[in-house]
Amino acid sequence: MNIEQFYPLFLKSGKVTIDSRKIGKDDIFFAFSGENFNAATLAEKAIDEGALAVIVEQQDFENTDKNIFYVPSTLEFLQDLAVRHREQLDIPIIGLTGSNGKTTTKEIIHAVLSEKFNVQYTFGNLNNHIGVPLTILSIKPEHEMAVIEMGANHQKEIEFLSNIAKPNYGYITNFGKAHLEGFGGFEGVIKGKSELYDYLKNHQQTIVVNENDPIQVQKTENYSPKITFGKENSDYQFELFSEEHFVGLQYKGIKAVSKLTGEYNFTNLCAAASLGLHFGIDFEQIKHAIENYTPTNMRSQVVKKEGRTLVLDTYNANPSSMTASLHNFITFEGSKTIVIGDMLELGEESEKEHKNILKLAQELGFNEIITVGKNFKHVNSSAKAFENTLELIEYLKQNKILSENILLKGSRGIALERSIDFI
Ligand code: ATP
Ligand code: MG
Repeated sequence: MNIEQFYPLFLKSGKVTIDSRKIGKDDIFFAFSGENFNAATLAEKAIDEGALAVIVEQQDFENTDKNIFYVPSTLEFLQDLAVRHREQLDIPIIGLTGSNGKTTTKEIIHAVLSEKFNVQYTFGNLNNHIGVPLTILSIKPEHEMAVIEMGANHQKEIEFLSNIAKPNYGYITNFGKAHLEGFGGFEGVIKGKSELYDYLKNHQQTIVVNENDPIQVQKTENYSPKITFGKENSDYQFELFSEEHFVGLQYKGIKAVSKLTGEYNFTNLCAAASLGLHFGIDFEQIKHAIENYTPTNMRSQVVKKEGRTLVLDTYNANPSSMTASLHNFITFEGSKTIVIGDMLELGEESEKEHKNILKLAQELGFNEIITVGKNFKHVNSSAKAFENTLELIEYLKQNKILSENILLKGSRGIALERSIDFI
């Protein structure tokens, strides 16, 4: 079975799934073998449940169902199908990568562009070698644009994903200290993320540049087409302001206040607004989109609990986002407790980075510092250094946090959000 033969069947179905528990009628099911199940047995079940076709790797049983297709690699077939689909899509595709802020920026860009267009976008955080093809395959004839998040933790990954998504516009949110282990240090991060620029340059596509970021400026010097913001002579200029804890941006006298906290979200908003303006959306409409976007995804989210303000940033953490988050939180009025979880995947830099963050937290002068995770515990001799979130929960059952403001931030693996009910 080759892609060309299979493509009409995909178009007929229009819906791809890799989850055997969620097979709908006329879906195309890609059966990946897992630890506890054999893809081939799932294949028959999927057909019984109404799948139009099943793509499966091994053929270790008798099967004559004409809708089960055997391929050398399910993953490669999925990726190749996505490329095939992408090639016939004649819509602008916006590709995003960066160390921090991809999902947030993607969500805001989606909100802004949806003021005028029918926009498809990465669902949740499905930004890897499976998520990107799935997102591409979810683009339907009625979609007028798409926003694709591309994540990476090692070299050549963004190049690979760019070759699937083939973006017409690209933006790197920032270069930060994330996944240092896989990238081989900060220089490695810059190189790895810049693979998006390499793709755009090789295909003469548009780069969105935050001119306040010297690395972005340097990497895109003398290149066009570009859409720029951040400096006085950039294409678009926005002024930062904040209202209560929320970040806002002002454009030609019109103010838009987001429901996001953290000054770092200003650049995320600027990128989205620039794209909006570029695509002919009025700032009034952009304002509407920005003011109505409510984060619900544990990223820079602010909630009230028993009269206290909780900042939930438990989705992930690395030294850059942690630093930004602490600097933001210290500006909150009233007493402040920080509950910070380990920053994972830092390799050799880990001990040093955890020490730095702890030192920064002490210097900024929070009223109470609680750490969670082995890495922080290793450098924090205080009694409020817990090994994991369960230990923290046990502590919280006996001890209430009394501060008026509480920040929770840590890596995904620490899952600090599990403690929210006990705070
Ligand atoms: P992932 O690698 O998990 O996909 P991501 O790049 O999609 O992460 P988000 O989930 O949008 O990033 O944001 C995670 C956290 O990063 C935010 O809650 C915030 O603390 C921080 N952050 C967001 N934007 C920026 C930015 N522009 N610069 C620095 N930190 C940021
Ligand atoms: Mg993300």
